[in-house]
Amino acid sequence: MKVVFLGVGEACDERAPNTSVWVQTEVENQHKSVMLDCGFTVPSFYWQQTSNPEDLDALWISHFHGDHFFGVPALLLRFWEMKRSRPLAIVSQVGVERIITQTMELAYPGFFPKLTYSVVFHEIEPDQRVRIVGLDWSAAQSIHGQRNLAVRIEDGKHSIFYSGDGLFSPETLSLARDCSLAVHEAFRLDPLTPGHGTVRQCIDFAREAGAAMLALVHVQRDERKDRYTEILEVLRGVNDLHVIIPEPGDELEL
Ligand SMILES: [Zn+2]
Ligand SMILES: [Zn+2]
Repeated sequence: MKVVFLGVGEACDERAPNTSVWVQTEVENQHKSVMLDCGFTVPSFYWQQTSNPEDLDALWISHFHGDHFFGVPALLLRFWEMKRSRPLAIVSQVGVERIITQTMELAYPGFFPKLTYSVVFHEIEPDQRVRIVGLDWSAAQSIHGQRNLAVRIEDGKHSIFYSGDGLFSPETLSLARDCSLAVHEAFRLDPLTPGHGTVRQCIDFAREAGAAMLALVHVQRDERKDRYTEILEVLRGVNDLHVIIPEPGDELEL
């Protein structure tokens, strides 16, 4: 399983694009490609990675804050411009179809029915395990200002947990159990912002979940600038867990 951090930023970061993770893997010799969240600054970073309009199998949307899904119209538009023909799965919580079609209609009126490919919506709710595009998906609710689902995707060999936004909950902790990689939002180094995680809490979370590796994303912009050395210092002090704070464009092979 290959993981590319298209973006690692929060909503208003002037340097780091919105947090988005591109996951590529193989199941029974078939290439699988999934994007986790697509905020307003993300599509151009995806197109820097690939110019193939048929590559993406599925898009996961953790919740409906703009930095996690306002890139969808531009993504769908370019697929249309490039004459994509394969269906695209959009996977999220209940209500996803209405929200995405409304968003598309606001951004590019009249375009959604004209797309050259079909968009297939899948709803996942906590306690379900669903097979979509040949991968196993499950979800759990975190603690965030808007309802956010963390997701776990498995290809039979590896598993990735992605928090979306929010502080972990007992449910997201069990979702992350023994995963190969936990990608978790860590908005601050330590003082708590309601509805978000901290670097130290995420480390405890990954440790308790038994995750093999932890990637910290969505760090608040000033914190990322002014306290980066302090954050690295904390990470250096962790000896029992592989923790990284990726830069945009960084890749991992699990
Ligand atoms: Zn966010
Ligand atoms: Zn949010």
